[in-house]
Amino acid sequence: MDALARSLADTGLPHPLLVDAARTAIADGSPEGVEERARRHAHAAARALLQPVVNATGVLLHTNLGRAPLAVTADAAYTNLELDLSSGRRGSRHAHAAALLARLCGAEDAIVVNNGASAVLLVLAALATGRGAAVSRGELVEIGGGFRVPEVMEQSGAKLVEVGTTNRTRLADFASAAENPANDTALALKVHQSNYRIVGFTEHVTMAELASLGVPAVADIGSGLVDAACPWLADGPPAWLAGEPAARQSLADGAALVTFSGDKLFGGPQAGIIAGRADLVQRCAHHPLARALRPGSLVLNALQQVTLAYMRRDGEAIEFWRMASLTTSELESRANAVTTEAGAGEVAEMASVPGGGTLPGVEIDSYGVVLDGDHTASLRAGTPPIIARVSESRTWLDLRTVAPADDHHVIAALKAIG
Ligand SMILES: *Cc1c(COP(=O)(O)O)cnc(C)c1O
Repeated sequence: MDALARSLADTGLPHPLLVDAARTAIADGSPEGVEERARRHAHAAARALLQPVVNATGVLLHTNLGRAPLAVTADAAYTNLELDLSSGRRGSRHAHAAALLARLCGAEDAIVVNNGASAVLLVLAALATGRGAAVSRGELVEIGGGFRVPEVMEQSGAKLVEVGTTNRTRLADFASAAENPANDTALALKVHQSNYRIVGFTEHVTMAELASLGVPAVADIGSGLVDAACPWLADGPPAWLAGEPAARQSLADGAALVTFSGDKLFGGPQAGIIAGRADLVQRCAHHPLARALRPGSLVLNALQQVTLAYMRRDGEAIEFWRMASLTTSELESRANAVTTEAGAGEVAEMASVPGGGTLPGVEIDSYGVVLDGDHTASLRAGTPPIIARVSESRTWLDLRTVAPADDHHVIAALKAIG
C-alpha cells in the first residue's frame, strides 16, 4: 500500500491522502488495475479540494460557487488587527472595515460578523432576548440554505410577535402589537423578502413608517446594496436594481440598525454587517455571541478593500459590479472572439441573473456561447472546471460571469469538445 501511495506522488497530494486513495483502490477489487484505480481516487481527492472555477452560468452570485467573486492576496504578515498604532495600546478589530462601513452607509457605528444570518441572530440576541420582536407575517421568510426568520428568532431567545397577515400588514398592526404590554416589544424587524415576491392585493409597512413606532426599527436588507443611487457606477443604478432596499436609504428613513451580507450585492467576502445607532451597535458588540461570531483578519482585510473601492466610487474594482455592468456589445464581441478562435459553438443572446437569493425574476441581457448537446460534465472535468448551464438539450456559456482573463480556458475547452 505504501509503495502504491508513493507511486502517486506526482499528483501533488500529501502522503496521507495518497494512502487513502491506495487503500480504497486495494479494497475495491482485484490486484489487476489497482494502480489505475488508485490514480483515479487520487485525482478525485484533488478535484474535491477548494479551487477556482470558471462560472459560465450567468448567475452573478452563485451560492454553490461562493457568491461574489473576490481577489484576495495577502502575504504572511502580522497586522494591527487589535492594536491602536497611534497610542500603542490594545485596539479594536472593529476600528478598520467596520468603521469604514459605518462611514460608507451613513451610520454612527458598525460591526462585522461571520455572515448575514449571524448579524440577525446577534441583533436579536443583544436587543430582544426574553422580549418581543415584531415582524410582519409577510416577512417570516426562508431565505435559502435553511435561514428561516422564525427559527433564527427562536435561537436568539427573542419572542416572535407576528403582525398583520401574509399579504397585508399596516402600521396600525405594528402599533397595536407594540401597545400590548404582554408582547414587551423590544424592536420591530423588517425582513427583505429577498428571493420571492407577493403580488396582487398587498400592503406593507415602509421603513419610514416603522421608524415612527417608538421602538428601534431593524432592517434586515440581506442583499447588501449600499446606496440606491449607486454612485460607484458611472451610469448610476441599473434598471434591474429598481426597488431593492439599500443600507444608506434604510438608515436615512429611520432604521435604527441595518443588517446585510458581505457577499451578495455588496460584492465582498462572506460576512455580516450590522450598522446604525452607536448605542445599539455597542450592545451587539458587547454581547457574548459577538465573540463567537467575529471574523478574522483575512475577512476584515478583504472587506476593507471592497469598502475603500466603494468610497473611491470605483465600481470597476469590485468584481461583482464590474461584471454586472458589462454591456451587451462588449459581451457580444467577446463571444464572437471565443467562437472564432475555438472554431466551435455559436454566439447567442442569453440572460444573466443576479442570484444569491436576491432580485427574483430579474434578468440582465447578456451574450455568450451555445453548443448543441449537454457538455456540462466534460466542461466541469477540465482544469479549471468550467460550470455551464443546460436547457433545451443545449449547453449555454454566459460570458458575463466569466472573467475576460479566463476566456482562453473557455476557448480551449470548446476546442476540445470540437
Ligand atoms: C441572504 C439573507 C440572509 C442571510 O445572509 P447570509 O449571509 O447568507 O447568512 C438574511 N436575511 C436576508 C434578508 C437575506 O437576504
